[in-house]
Amino acid sequence: MRSQDQLVDLLVAEGAVKHKDIDRVLRAVDRGFFCGEANMPKHYIYQDSPLPIGYGETISAPHMHATCLEILRTHLRPGARVLDVGSGSGYLSAAMALMVSPGGKVIGIEKHPELAEQSKQNIRAAMPDMLDSGVLEIRAGNVLGDALASEDVGFDAIHVGAAADTLPDVLVNKLRHGGRMVIPVGQQWDYQILQLVDRDVGGKISKKNLMGVRYVPLTRPGEE
Ligand code: SAH
Repeated sequence: MRSQDQLVDLLVAEGAVKHKDIDRVLRAVDRGFFCGEANMPKHYIYQDSPLPIGYGETISAPHMHATCLEILRTHLRPGARVLDVGSGSGYLSAAMALMVSPGGKVIGIEKHPELAEQSKQNIRAAMPDMLDSGVLEIRAGNVLGDALASEDVGFDAIHVGAAADTLPDVLVNKLRHGGRMVIPVGQQWDYQILQLVDRDVGGKISKKNLMGVRYVPLTRPGEE
């Protein structure tokens, strides 16, 4: 695979990309801007697998980006407020920011300050106006610590890109009525279950197990 279009063609053939909105947004955000190394060979960048982005972290596999966008799609409408936990390279935050424009907002939170900074550079290179327009904000901090400010009243969609050992209340409490979260839950450094968490319009929470996945751990403050 040598280009973003070829990669998305593969994701369509694999069945990871289903809806035309997801097809469009994945073609619009080129993975080449988010893989760190400027001289990384193209056949690595555009393959469907995770890649190291420094600080011991990885950019997720494209089929996982596609799968999570498909799951959250109906909640990523223009005007929606979205939280991307463990925003890493910034790829998925940028893709979701395109979907909630105009009028929406994505907040990406990344625990490594240097990686948060690097992701801002990636986003600036890929989508020059996105950060300045205010539709996307990247914050350095730990989401299980104090990175979620009290002014963050709630979110229509929450994506968690790292595996929690149990479902964190601090995130469930940030789901708006009618909101949806997708989060890997399970043992660290093992397989986890990708869970769907919905808060209905009356405020009631329901959960569903979707599929087995493998993510890096969602760490507590002070853990590495
Ligand atoms: N969606 C990102 C995934 C990056 S990997 C991408 O495709 O680029 C998961 C990220 O979660 C890592 O960068 C890691 O540093 C971050 N992370 C792990 N625990 C965290 C926490 N408690 N708060 C914020 N970020 C966290």
